[in-house]
Amino acid sequence: MGILDDDVARVREATDLVALVSEHVALKRVGRRFQGLCPFHQEKTPSFSVSPDKGVWHCFGCQKSGDAITFVREVEHLDFVETIERLAGRANITLRYDDASFSEERKRKQRLHAAVQAAIEYFHQRLLESPDAGIARRYLRSRGFDGDAVRKFSLGWAPDGYDPLSSHLQKAKFSRQDIADAGLAFVNRANKLQDAIRGRLMFPIWDTRGDPVGFGGRTLTDDGPKYKNTAETAIYHKSRLLYGLNFAKAEIVAQGEVVICEGYTDVMAFALAGVPTAVATCGTALADDHFITLKNLARKVTLAYDADNAGQAAAERCYQWEQRFEVQFQVADLPAGRDPADVWKDDPEQLVRAVKAAMPFLEFRLDRLLRAADTSTLEGRARAAQEGAVLIAEHPNDLVRDQYVMKLAGQLEIEPDRVREAVGNVRSRPHVRAASEPSATPPPVIPTVDRRELDALRWAVQAPELMSGRLDVALFVDPLARTAFAGLTELPWHECLERASPEVAALLQRLAVEDLDDRAPTEELATHVVVNLVEASSQRLLTSMLRRDDPRTSEVKARLDELTNARASEHWNAAEVVAEQLVTWIIDDADAGA
Ligand SMILES: [Zn+2]
Repeated sequence: MGILDDDVARVREATDLVALVSEHVALKRVGRRFQGLCPFHQEKTPSFSVSPDKGVWHCFGCQKSGDAITFVREVEHLDFVETIERLAGRANITLRYDDASFSEERKRKQRLHAAVQAAIEYFHQRLLESPDAGIARRYLRSRGFDGDAVRKFSLGWAPDGYDPLSSHLQKAKFSRQDIADAGLAFVNRANKLQDAIRGRLMFPIWDTRGDPVGFGGRTLTDDGPKYKNTAETAIYHKSRLLYGLNFAKAEIVAQGEVVICEGYTDVMAFALAGVPTAVATCGTALADDHFITLKNLARKVTLAYDADNAGQAAAERCYQWEQRFEVQFQVADLPAGRDPADVWKDDPEQLVRAVKAAMPFLEFRLDRLLRAADTSTLEGRARAAQEGAVLIAEHPNDLVRDQYVMKLAGQLEIEPDRVREAVGNVRSRPHVRAASEPSATPPPVIPTVDRRELDALRWAVQAPELMSGRLDVALFVDPLARTAFAGLTELPWHECLERASPEVAALLQRLAVEDLDDRAPTEELATHVVVNLVEASSQRLLTSMLRRDDPRTSEVKARLDELTNARASEHWNAAEVVAEQLVTWIIDDADAGA
């Protein structure tokens, strides 16, 4: 079920892998391939390689590999169909689906996006023009947001009537079903559509791809909860959504940093102040799902909450996220009791400074503790040390803990050993030991294939024109290499990858980005590779002949010696002639054994 295979192939062909990857990773050309910092694991020196010729990538650090489709899937957390749709969109390809009901579901989602888009435009016009939106325009002005800000974020006004939006959309030929399914209205007891959010300032919300999915509506009259959000729909999943990510994504990737705040106006304030990397959760607390959305976009996460809330953010969860998602938390240095939008209105520059002066989470908490503590007396310092020890004890990394022990001890003029002891005591109480020590992830299984087999395979992948007809599957003894080679000779490259087992595909993708040789590939260099492989294979043939007392043993041995001598003295042409003879024996032997 899904998209026609032909279309998947067309999308793959039309996708420029280097351009695609460059949207997420800064790439540098190195010979025939490109190299950059891996988006899938944390590293300081680039081990992520892309082969434009083969359309595949591989990371020598975390051993992940794949093609354009797997790259988009992993980086953007899309399913297969969404990935193909995304790539097709980039390449202007219209997709065909092989299942009518499936195609219906995609079309339905598109209709829901269209309904939300129409609602955005309707609300926006109302905010700009309608007399009843005066309260919203005054509110925005009072918060310092002008017409440009209103337009940039497509803010709107939902009139306070039963069904102004619903009747507008019905006139625009949206069906009752779609309007309700998009969460814009519900069917009331009189069997009429009633608008879902009314009499509120509307903040449209887009998903990561930039498709409109719903709204956050703010009351301006203290009527009901401060914010009302669109209910869960087929396109609105609040636990995953981050407001502003559609605007900020490119900058977040470029800077490797994301600022997370609590409100829509905070995101606007940061953007207008010149911090284009801010996003906000949509009516939920920060949770695992948000990091799944953010993963691969940024390693540095700056919390820009009202400072009191930031201090209370669950430390345990932050440390767990730091480990699980390989992110680093810091806390923006905002004045206590004020949110970013307030700060912005008085002094936009202060927001920029607050992000620049952000502190690691633990440092921030210790800083707040010390500021509140009475350090003028011995007793006060002892109490601060004890409370600080509790905070330090929560950190899962003992090297980090120890540095804070030294720092706190210095600040309080207490022996580091005493603070260390206090931290140790807290940690030995099982219920306080929050996060566990980081557990090493198991190293990926790296196939231990003979170097000469790998060399030959690498050439077969990267320079098939030079290797064609010179290798045989019987020359490979390693099952992984053998399967990979058989696939390469039988199928076109991408089909071969698709049909291969994950291990074989990973091996091929790695080989595609590894350096072939310092020199440009030539017929002669290819000969070296063939001769080396035949030599390895002939040694195995000889061993097995010796074991079974084969009458041709001495002949094979003579030829093998000849080959070894020719190779050692770099008579490659002679070596290749002998190699050809040996290959026929190796194939015969393999056939006889089979
Ligand atoms: Zn990696």
